[in-house]
Amino acid sequence: MNGLMQQQPLLISSFLQNAQRHHGEQLVVSRRVEGDIHRYTYRDLAARARRMANALAGLGVKPASRVGTMAWNGYRHLELYYSVSGSGAVLHTLNPRLHPDQVVWIADHAEDEVLFFDKTFLPLIESVASRLSTVKHFVLMVDKGHMPEQSTIANLQCYEDLIAGASDDYEWPVFDENKASSLCYTSGTTGSPKGVLYSHRSTVLHTYASALPDALSVSARDTVLPVVPMFHVNAWGFPYSACMVGAKLVFPGPGLDGASLYELFESEGVTVSAGVPTVWQGLLNHVQSNGLRFSTMKRTIIGGSACQPSMMETFEDTYGVQVIHAWGMTELSPVGTVGILKGTQLGLSRSERRAIQAKQGRSVCGIDMKIVDVQGNDLPWDGKTAGDLLVRGHWVVQNYLKAEGSPLVQSGHHLWFPTGDVATIDADGFMNITDRSKDVIKSGGEWIGSIDLENIAMSHPDVVMAACVGARHPKWDERPLLVVVRKPGSEVSREELLGFYEGKIARWWTPDDIVFVDAIPLGATGKMLKHKLRDQFWNYLTERQD
Ligand code: ADP
Repeated sequence: MNGLMQQQPLLISSFLQNAQRHHGEQLVVSRRVEGDIHRYTYRDLAARARRMANALAGLGVKPASRVGTMAWNGYRHLELYYSVSGSGAVLHTLNPRLHPDQVVWIADHAEDEVLFFDKTFLPLIESVASRLSTVKHFVLMVDKGHMPEQSTIANLQCYEDLIAGASDDYEWPVFDENKASSLCYTSGTTGSPKGVLYSHRSTVLHTYASALPDALSVSARDTVLPVVPMFHVNAWGFPYSACMVGAKLVFPGPGLDGASLYELFESEGVTVSAGVPTVWQGLLNHVQSNGLRFSTMKRTIIGGSACQPSMMETFEDTYGVQVIHAWGMTELSPVGTVGILKGTQLGLSRSERRAIQAKQGRSVCGIDMKIVDVQGNDLPWDGKTAGDLLVRGHWVVQNYLKAEGSPLVQSGHHLWFPTGDVATIDADGFMNITDRSKDVIKSGGEWIGSIDLENIAMSHPDVVMAACVGARHPKWDERPLLVVVRKPGSEVSREELLGFYEGKIARWWTPDDIVFVDAIPLGATGKMLKHKLRDQFWNYLTERQD
């Protein structure tokens, strides 16, 4: 017997319609590539998205056509989020930090027909345009006054001209909720990029779940500044969730340094922000060295890489900003788990609560997870036993775009996505990533998790960044080697840092040696490229001993 309720497909356009109708006066503020601050309302956004939807049709964009963007977080990018997906086409957000050859490979693989891009990326797009075999239209996201006098791209089009030349009379079409809405390629830190093709249904369900108070927590009373880029996993869904709840949105554009971000936080009264740890490091450095305070910030969501407990402490104890530690992946749209306490844990001591909050957290309802051993047997949720983390749920990838075979594995009665992460889960369901399976250090048949070793190093006041990698060892196969960037002017020694581990971990986990470097290579999404360090320092210990 079927339920007798209305059946309306779950479509992304519903968020925009909701924002327009119920939060029409709410603001969207953007720092533009042009340098100034732009502000308008959700009502303006909706009207311009309708115009753009008509303009896209004029360019020949049809349902399922792929439309590429290479753009910072800003209102024009938001208009494309809604006009492209809302009209039934597929928004493909390209990561500008990738190598130009990868950009070409990805745009080709996706078969992008139109490419919209910010002026920052004009030189990059000019350098690859002739190799983009499927792109028929190139659109620069500026007004006429900011168009270049000449470009090597023939028929370079102007975003504002497209909008001005189109009517705002447009009805958002209704179609099957399983149709593709957007496309994001994994950044390639774990092999060649793979296309994750989100559907309207998966995106809408992810949006509802991620906005919950025990998830990323956004409401109509918040001012949200997503630092996490709209070109990486849809900025963790904020472009959708902010519209869904009617929050004020603030976009930082290209200004991701501590000073620019701080200025926007304060001038726009930002209450919630979100980004990877490396960005927050830059912000904290700026705030600390200038003796500043946050006057409106209530919480910040940190994910994408492990958030060091020391960063969490500084935010909370010194600045009164709550840190929400979250874990996710491109393949999970991206939210999987969030480190928010349960009611039963509120009576715990401060240090006990901190230890729980430092974990990657509980799964959001809609995502199921478990850990298994190498034979695929379920492992206990005891907070100690580490195993391969598997997930399944409404917004988890089933197949990669154009890939042969599915990445899913059978375990028990279900198919699961193997995350490539190694984790423990405790009796309360809090998951703690100990490593990526590729980064685990295998010492004499035992595993050493590199994340713990990095967190300890980064809690030392003289350390800016630290990566721990396995280096070849004649007796133990691999031993941990710590690669450290010192604070400018600091002379902290190898001996002092090694001594810093005493009493904090099992003695045999202590790194065998420390290498001081000027910088640690970061990938396209701000993560440390540990495989590069591993390649570089693989023989460090043996050569040193020889
Ligand atoms: P890619 O896989 O291409 O690097 P993703 O952004 O999808 O791009 O990366 C997902 C991975 O990032 C996870 O599998 C995990 O290893 C890591 N990650 C994400 N959030 C956290 C976190 N809070 N703590 C530790 N690792 C994290």
